[in-house]
Amino acid sequence: MSLFSVIVPCYNEEENIADFYHELLKNQEFFNEKKLELEILYIDDGSKDNTVSEVKKLREQDERVHLMSFSRNFGKEAAIYAGLQKSKGDYVVIMDVDLQDPPALLPEMYSYIEKGYDSVATRRVTRKGEPMIRSAFARMFYRLMNRISKTEIVDGARDYRLMTRQVADAILSMTEYNRFSKGIFGWVGYETKWLEYENVMRNKGETKWSFWKLFFYSIEGITAFSTMPLAIASIMGVVFCFAAFILIVVTILRKLLYGDPTSGWPSLVCIISLISGVQLFCLGIVGQYLSKTYMEVKRRPIYLVKEDI
Ligand code: UDP
Ligand code: MG
Repeated sequence: MSLFSVIVPCYNEEENIADFYHELLKNQEFFNEKKLELEILYIDDGSKDNTVSEVKKLREQDERVHLMSFSRNFGKEAAIYAGLQKSKGDYVVIMDVDLQDPPALLPEMYSYIEKGYDSVATRRVTRKGEPMIRSAFARMFYRLMNRISKTEIVDGARDYRLMTRQVADAILSMTEYNRFSKGIFGWVGYETKWLEYENVMRNKGETKWSFWKLFFYSIEGITAFSTMPLAIASIMGVVFCFAAFILIVVTILRKLLYGDPTSGWPSLVCIISLISGVQLFCLGIVGQYLSKTYMEVKRRPIYLVKEDI
């Protein structure tokens, strides 16, 4: 028998806990056939509703259900990390509890692991049912990200991934505090098979990601996997120095040749405001990296456990 770990991050998902469990167990025959023993790890990310008691209810009926709950909300990334640490499986899969990662896909995913792939990733090819602005920004983010980062980050990639123990350990070896999974998965490499599927609507409840939460998450992704913005800041500095030099020469020559004592106030104001804008922008970029570095050097734990059953 091999052990098959299912990691399920949950944040205020009381309505979905049982639905997910039943949907997953529809694959029971497949698990038996492949001699896979199940281990279901619900990672409660500091939920304020009855998520924990729902999991405990399942636990009473089924020994294979495990629960780890955090002392507060640490974010999905922390939950994934905790799940990977807790999992003992030879194969590990990360799934959302809202059934947007269809468990019915597991047999197909596993078949590629049997064929020798180290990990099987999924991406949704449509963003049906998502607000238009959100899709537009997401697409823009991926295009930008792939231009400025050496790590490949696939558009529409989900965190739904099946991997071997080796890959899970590789991900665990990345102990950074600012975790951007989509980048981390790409960074560790290994032979990855991509499966595509149509977007599935959330089972019950609402998405936990607001537009702004996603926006700051995307900045996390950029600073974690690219230093290009810093390079852009320096290039802009050089360009502006060069322009300033030409401007100085032109101004001095004009003064010497034509006199021109008082005019030039409007252009001065324009130049000063433009350059101070650029300066603040660049300072902001540096600040972003500084703040990420600051959080990183504190070496705070990625999550804190309240209960571990
Ligand atoms: N989630 C979490 N912590 C958070 C936010 C979300 O563990 O702070 C979990 C959530 O319970 C779900 C998964 O991450 O299982 C994906 O969240 P959601 O469905 O809200 O995101 P979406 O699918 O809309 O991108
Ligand atoms: Mg979802």
